[in-house]
Amino acid sequence: MTKKIAVLSGDGIGPEIVSEALKVLGCLESEFGLKIETEEALIGGAAYDAKGTPFPAETLAIAKEADSILLGAVGGPKWEPLDYSVRPERGLLGLRSELDLFANLRPAVLYPQLVNASTLKPEVVSGLDIMILRELTGGIYFGQPRGRRLNGKGEREGFNTLVYSESEIRRIAHVGFKIAQKRDKRLCSVDKANVLECTELWREVVIEVGKEYPDVTLSHMYVDNAAMQLVRNPKQFDVMLTDNLFGDILSDCAAMLTGSIGMLPSASMDQEGKGMYEPIHGSAPDITGKGIANPIATILSLGMMLRYSFGDMENADRVEKAVISALDLGFRTADIYSEGTQRIGTAEMGDAIVAALRKN
Ligand code: NAD
Repeated sequence: MTKKIAVLSGDGIGPEIVSEALKVLGCLESEFGLKIETEEALIGGAAYDAKGTPFPAETLAIAKEADSILLGAVGGPKWEPLDYSVRPERGLLGLRSELDLFANLRPAVLYPQLVNASTLKPEVVSGLDIMILRELTGGIYFGQPRGRRLNGKGEREGFNTLVYSESEIRRIAHVGFKIAQKRDKRLCSVDKANVLECTELWREVVIEVGKEYPDVTLSHMYVDNAAMQLVRNPKQFDVMLTDNLFGDILSDCAAMLTGSIGMLPSASMDQEGKGMYEPIHGSAPDITGKGIANPIATILSLGMMLRYSFGDMENADRVEKAVISALDLGFRTADIYSEGTQRIGTAEMGDAIVAALRKN
């Protein structure tokens, strides 16, 4: 059956990296019988420029109608002076919350070929395979009230609200335990229960849910320690379960363990498994238009889409193997380049992966 993908390239390097993922998709269609229809829509700064809003109703309609969504990145300095309500990031947050994409899966895997691209010692990171599960539609990014105001002394103050309901914690915890069951059966829940009541509840509810998964070993860690442990001894983790804010930060930290943020895909799923797939990095304004961005995170995001939303393990495996083959051949974008390898640009990396796909 033909699947429909909404393609939201967004801003900055978004269109450059999404083009490469579409090349891979095209190859899967022409060579391996994948049946896909794509429809493009505007999001973020590009949408604001064209329609005056970072999240046009038409985009939401296309995303809702699609079986799955492929997103590049949003944001950039051009839109930073805008009010928060129309910043590009609001488009992304709107999409996540409108589609109830509450479970954000961020695998951090170190490919053996890139062991030298990590800033950490090879013995610390080689063999690294962590799954970070971040709650995506609640917590401080969405909590009300929020804003800026003048306080009683006439001084400016900013405020945000960290809030999680029991049901929000429960549903993400279930996803975490289920993922752990399919892996090494270890779940580490990350919170700040010693100072934040909200995350004290987080810990309590995770423990309650854990009783339904006796085969999974549950541990807890404060977020400051988790950040330190990720750099000190990252291989101690299997699945890390955490809230929206902590997950945002910890997954970027984990990204660097793997050599580059340009390598890491992500999936954001709803209760039924519909997903939005995107690289974990942003729009990288510093390298936009230079043709040097790494498209691998986006291509691997497409692989995750095939695996998690379409259940197409065969083509998902093909994509992952093609990425590994291109790395094996020594091809590297600038962010993962090391001596003795061949530095290539965004489009060349897409071509190398497509060539590997055809060969494998
Ligand atoms: P960023 O992830 O865009 O960039 C951080 C650093 O990583 C930069 O040096 C960049 O060049 C590099 N980088 C990122 N992706 C890369 C790739 N594929 N290949 C090679 N190098 C890559 O984060 P930032 O600079 O903090 O944010 C830039 C903009 O992106 C901001 O407007 C921010 O709000 C937005 N942002 C969007 C998302 C998203 O769309 N999901 C996520 C994070 C940040």
